[in-house]
Amino acid sequence: MKLIFHGHDERYVVEQSLMALFPGELPVYEPVLPGDDARAEITCDEASDYLVVTCDLFYHGASGVYTYGAPLSGSEFDREGQRRHAIGACFYLARREMGLPDLPWGMLTGVRPDKPVTQALTAGKSPDEVRTMLEAEYFVTPSRAALALETGTAALEAARDLSPRDIAVYVGIPFCPTRCAYCSFVSQSVERSFSLVEPYVDALVEEIRAGGEVVRRCGLRVRAFYMGGGTPTTLTAPQMDRVLTAFCTSFDLSHCRELTVEAGRPDTITAEKLAVLRRHGVTRVSVNPQTMEDHVLQAIGRRHTAGDIEKAMELVNRCGFDHVNMDLIAGLPEDTPEGFRRSLDWCLAFGTDNVTVHTLALKKGSRILLEGLSVPGPEDVAAMLDYANPALRSAGYAPYYLYRQKYMSGSFENIGWSRSGGTCWYNIYIMSELCSILSFGAGGSTKMVDGSRIQRAFNPKYPKEYTERPEKWRDNQAAFAAFYGS
Ligand code: SF4
Repeated sequence: MKLIFHGHDERYVVEQSLMALFPGELPVYEPVLPGDDARAEITCDEASDYLVVTCDLFYHGASGVYTYGAPLSGSEFDREGQRRHAIGACFYLARREMGLPDLPWGMLTGVRPDKPVTQALTAGKSPDEVRTMLEAEYFVTPSRAALALETGTAALEAARDLSPRDIAVYVGIPFCPTRCAYCSFVSQSVERSFSLVEPYVDALVEEIRAGGEVVRRCGLRVRAFYMGGGTPTTLTAPQMDRVLTAFCTSFDLSHCRELTVEAGRPDTITAEKLAVLRRHGVTRVSVNPQTMEDHVLQAIGRRHTAGDIEKAMELVNRCGFDHVNMDLIAGLPEDTPEGFRRSLDWCLAFGTDNVTVHTLALKKGSRILLEGLSVPGPEDVAAMLDYANPALRSAGYAPYYLYRQKYMSGSFENIGWSRSGGTCWYNIYIMSELCSILSFGAGGSTKMVDGSRIQRAFNPKYPKEYTERPEKWRDNQAAFAAFYGS
């Protein structure tokens, strides 16, 4: 879509709005040519304390114009925020004038739609005022406003329990048995990268031991541990044992609230591996069937059946972990609202205390896009989520964290649901940026958080590069130590 600006150059907010509100459209800045039938002309007229924005949209024969006025006050930083909000709101309302349906999250385009909630609650607004603000100023639907209020409140509660020297630790295992059709992670099929696994574990153990030393020297407390990927249980039981031994002997875990390990693919779960997890005090495992429909499992490239998931879940149950999570995805290729309902009902009947409901995100590099697989439309995805949310609530689950990704079907969200006491703290810490995350392994992204000051350091993306370049993680750990003044 051609973008034309008058009186401003707010590219970021307009581009984000464009990509969220007109999926598939990319910003183009060349002059408008005869025959261009997708354009947005945004004009800002600013006096000292008032701003008038006009957005004129033209899209494949339909048009919509809106004029939005907003007061400006405070510092230049405050005024910049007010200006961006006015432009985003005006763009959204011009789209509405075109007759296009409202979106669940209104004009919110970011990863964390509950961010305005935590900011407003922290500033002293009441829950009712926050709900009204989301609906009136951001055009969020009432059901999504209620969700954001719940997860934003959960984030504030989690923050109250953290001190400035609390951190969380992440360990990444970037291997999987096969590659799922919707995946765009760096994760590699273990069949193709088998020879990389053992050197990877060696390098990881070395990095973890060095990281334990840094954390001790800086006087930090580990509050949560999360091993993800990839599929960590792709490792053999002895490899898993080596990684967890390195972690448990290198860090003081006396203040750690939880140890979570993703056992995402049922075809990687064995009694021997689960016994290793139990022996190291793992409190939560996450099994991620994504669907219980065999033909959908086949369509996404899984080499197991729903029957295998049931067997793996029974094995997990017998081990007696404190918490178990199951992930589902709404909108998978070949799935239907009825199929999704059967999958969710199965999870509810099984009764794990955590269920995470994702919405399919159509990511670049995924097989779904590369091979053009057909996926359910936004109405079907809406029907899946419309079933999931009340069904989870009536089964005793509440939403505790929430995030969005780019290119999500129907512009919905991912929600973590838990029964009382089942919250995965790591998920809240990372999503709401409540504390630093020290990450180990390929693709690890260490985030250093001090209030609103955030610094990042990235490990090499691929296992081979990670194994061959230990100097990169050493530099990252030095940056982490420097951040904490050690
Ligand atoms: S299990 Fe997860 S990381 Fe592995 S291929 Fe599937 S989506 Fe990607």
